Amino acid sequence: SSIFAAVEMAPRDPILGLNEAFNGDARDTKVNLGVGVYFDDNGKIPLLAAVKAAEETRLKAAPPRGYQPIEGPAAYNTAVQNLLFGKDSDLLAAGRVITAQAIGGTGALKIGADYLKRLNPEAKVYISNPSWENHRALFEAAGFIVEDYAYYDAGTRGVNFAGMKADLNKMAPGSVVLLHACCHNPTGADMSDAQWAEVVGICQERGLVPFLDMAYQGFADGIDADAVAIRAFSASGLQFFASSSFSKNFSLYGERVGALSVVTASKEESARVLSQVKRVIRTNYSNPPIHGGALVAAVLASGELRAQWETELAGMRDRIRAMRAGLVDAIKATGCAQDFSFVAQQRGMFSYTGLTAAQVERMKEEFGIYAVSTGRICLAALNTKNLDYVAKAIAAVTK
Ligand code: PLP
Repeated sequence: SSIFAAVEMAPRDPILGLNEAFNGDARDTKVNLGVGVYFDDNGKIPLLAAVKAAEETRLKAAPPRGYQPIEGPAAYNTAVQNLLFGKDSDLLAAGRVITAQAIGGTGALKIGADYLKRLNPEAKVYISNPSWENHRALFEAAGFIVEDYAYYDAGTRGVNFAGMKADLNKMAPGSVVLLHACCHNPTGADMSDAQWAEVVGICQERGLVPFLDMAYQGFADGIDADAVAIRAFSASGLQFFASSSFSKNFSLYGERVGALSVVTASKEESARVLSQVKRVIRTNYSNPPIHGGALVAAVLASGELRAQWETELAGMRDRIRAMRAGLVDAIKATGCAQDFSFVAQQRGMFSYTGLTAAQVERMKEEFGIYAVSTGRICLAALNTKNLDYVAKAIAAVTK
């Protein structure tokens, strides 16, 4: 018999399954609020003008396609470091940060998880409750036991900070704490600057290992403002990990462009840590792909293209904000008794709407509006054409 005869079907990815159902829906009013992708007001994934310009220049130059260094090119990694840590960072000047290009933010988490498993195989990993569903899977696949810490408060639709602190204070020294640096996925609930400062203090006191996941820099308040957590940990003297991604803020999803950065105690330590991270990369995929990273590096190195990118990024951020406010107003205008004003306070692409699984199901059945069964919706899939329709549907199912 076949060597695969006993293989079981793996469970379907809930969000990709949603896409399939959406694609099969014949209604022309259908709306997909399930996926984590930014769409413009016409419902298209934008190709940023700054990226297009960099790509045209690159195509004209027709560069050869040799292998890249295992950790990716210095120009790219330096550009990543400047965005995350700020170009005047003391840590960067001291050589205390190593960065390796990675295959998207997911690849950065994977490299970080594999390296942490070598560094401290006995550590436990803690993720927020709830979190991006791949966090648990990635760290479990690296061999870790993964547990939750309290994060979201469904009552206030904000952060359950007392619960979170209580959980952090129970963790054993050396535990890895995965933190969403900004624009928490799936809830849209972020910590305040003061709360971040407290989290840094607890990590310091208890000897925890922070791992900041930054998938949405620039989608909440701006490039530097959204780096508040990275900057707070940088000032603490702690060692920590940071994964970052250009999928959303450069609209380069399928090019798979991200990076893993590790903050060490000294330049000399950095050299040793980088040598080990390179070993992890070498045995995973040898070295990263060229194209997407080259575009990002070219945009960030050019004064003109960088300014254009910042304007385009601000445009995406402002449009999401406008859709948040617009949804709140449009729901109110239906006479809906339930208050949705919290949607305008949440940040990033997502909102935990509080819609129940049954209400989400009704949205799909009766309106052709697709959302995750947890009630998570992607605000970046709303536009001026579907906003009122979605608001009416939410009002109808919550009546
Ligand atoms: N981390 C979080 C919190 C995310 O939401 C995402 C993407 O949805 C990622 C990481 C992965 O990003 P990438 O698509 O660059 O792998």
